[in-house]
Amino acid sequence: MSIQLYNTLTRKKEEFVPLEEGKVKMYVCGPTVYNYIHIGNARPAIVFDTVRRYLEYRGYEVKYVSNFTDVDDKLIRAANQLGEDVPTIADRFIEAYFEDVTSLGCRHADIHPRVMENMDIIIEFIRQLIEKGYAYESEGDVYFHTRGFEEYGKLSHQSIDELRVGARIEVGDKKQDDLDFALWKAAKEGEIYWESPWGPGRPGWHIECSAMAKKYLGDTIDIHAGGQDLTFPHHENEIAQSEALTGKPFARYWMHNGYINIDNEKMSKSLGNFVLVHDIIKQHNPQVLRLFMLSVHYRNPINYSQELLESTKSAFERLQTSYQNLKHRREASTNLTDHNQEWLDKISALHDEFIEAMDDDFNTAKAISVLFDLSKSANYYLLEKNTAAEVIDAFTGQFEELFAVLGLKLDKEEMLDEEIDALIEKRNQARKERNFQLSDQIRDQLKDMNIILEDTPQGTRWKRG
Ligand SMILES: [Zn+2]
Repeated sequence: MSIQLYNTLTRKKEEFVPLEEGKVKMYVCGPTVYNYIHIGNARPAIVFDTVRRYLEYRGYEVKYVSNFTDVDDKLIRAANQLGEDVPTIADRFIEAYFEDVTSLGCRHADIHPRVMENMDIIIEFIRQLIEKGYAYESEGDVYFHTRGFEEYGKLSHQSIDELRVGARIEVGDKKQDDLDFALWKAAKEGEIYWESPWGPGRPGWHIECSAMAKKYLGDTIDIHAGGQDLTFPHHENEIAQSEALTGKPFARYWMHNGYINIDNEKMSKSLGNFVLVHDIIKQHNPQVLRLFMLSVHYRNPINYSQELLESTKSAFERLQTSYQNLKHRREASTNLTDHNQEWLDKISALHDEFIEAMDDDFNTAKAISVLFDLSKSANYYLLEKNTAAEVIDAFTGQFEELFAVLGLKLDKEEMLDEEIDALIEKRNQARKERNFQLSDQIRDQLKDMNIILEDTPQGTRWKRG
């Protein structure tokens, strides 16, 4: 069985075959670092982290590159407003980005290139495009001559003539054609700038990804990914720049994740409904947000609301509880019970279903429904009076393996001090009432959370183990 993925370029599901056997070169467009990320930025981070994990699980060696746009109009505006310089703001929000996405279970990319650190290769890329006749200088700016690249529009499936409608060249414009886009922008008074053959300035947005993907992954990459909103013009422009320069295909598979709506409305500045990850994870376990994002297929739109997040939270706890119960039962299980093979076959069939779902264009929604089936089966098995260690191990093994593929953790969140105090209070009450079954159960529950109790004449003390 092989992995099938939907390629935006061909609008078809295709068998995934990387250029070099066993190796995957993957580039994911990263955020512009001028603010905390909102959940619209969290979705590609989670989705493509999961794609990467799954590819690795299936035996590929993945080289994963994701950039930071650390110079652009938004950063310059933020710098002016806050009275700080652009690099200071970029550094701060790169740190905040790592904090947010790490809590969401996303691993760091192998390389996180920054524009400021790659100015030389960006300038060189532009210089070569001019030399080849694909770009021109105009009063300190440099533009890409879009009409010069015949296949322009192939990713977003639009012809150049369709694209003309809507965009009109205006008086005073420095470009020769309405479809041309900036590769280099001359610095305005007081703006951060770098020296270039065309005078002081900074790169346009699109060129950084072409230049950095080439530097870190080579002329042709396997998977290029990002949010659906990047398809046009950003990714279309990346293709034009890269293929004009090298004459080779830029990316073989293009993956795009769908939009996020907030309470059934589009997330937008004017509606003021931007939800920052930074704020959500103050109130919710970030793992719940990850499960929530993965419970919808990545190409479908997702609707975010507090209620949906709450129901995901209880669903997540059900999965974790099954796993905890299996672990509790392990010691009391024996080697000799009937029907073991039946259960082992059942578990292995669920494993295959999970793989089949993920092989089919990374269908995490289906894969997660298999996790719930696994949990239901486990709960059913635990109703048996005698359980076999072999079966319990097979269940817990699958839980651990499949949760890791999705970047989810099985351990419950650390308990807050007041929750621990409340449980100890409940246990003392149970002891007073000589309900030793309940008091032992609470002690075990705390032990699982790594809380160690010590009964002293002065009362019960606890510490974290
Ligand atoms: Zn990009």
